[in-house]
Amino acid sequence: MKDLLRGIEACRICAGRLGHEPRPVVQAGTGARILVAGQAPGRKVHESGVPWDDASGRRLRQWLDIDEATFYDPQKVALVPMGFCYPGKAGSGDAPPRPECRATWQPRLLPLLPNIGLVLAIGQYAQAYHLGDRHKGSLTANLRAWREFLPGTLPLPHPSPRNVAWFKANPWFEGEVLPELRARVHELL
Ligand code: SF4
Repeated sequence: MKDLLRGIEACRICAGRLGHEPRPVVQAGTGARILVAGQAPGRKVHESGVPWDDASGRRLRQWLDIDEATFYDPQKVALVPMGFCYPGKAGSGDAPPRPECRATWQPRLLPLLPNIGLVLAIGQYAQAYHLGDRHKGSLTANLRAWREFLPGTLPLPHPSPRNVAWFKANPWFEGEVLPELRARVHELL
């Protein structure tokens, strides 16, 4: 794992396509029980180098009901987004995670995480990758079918403040999914 993480840290595959220097942001340890599969770092995380060090991360930790010490313990929680570097802007939001990243690193990293008991597939890109054939065709359809993916995987919306309207329009997420999520997390940790 250490060698692989060093390789990721030194990765420059997307140099020249990002509009800035690559800065891979990932956390993983072989003992991790929970895999947080997000999209890609945003600008704030790109600048700090700390995964989920933003408003989305604060909301995610509230959802999981775990403190920062637990969240940032690589032997408990692996933070492995679909793209490890900030992909830059596209329109009003961030560009999609670089596809080279998924193709290059996920098949090498995921086998080194044998103790994962729960994959949190956050947002459309992680759901496309981690749900595979079980994907229901849209993010909301995946979320409505959340029970089907347990106990190993749980699709989640992105906890970004941009999604507040979705949270308000879908109160069942907070009422039904979050209690189950917290129970699974506490069981695993
Ligand atoms: S996004 Fe992934 S593949 Fe591209 S430079 Fe960063 S670590 Fe390498």
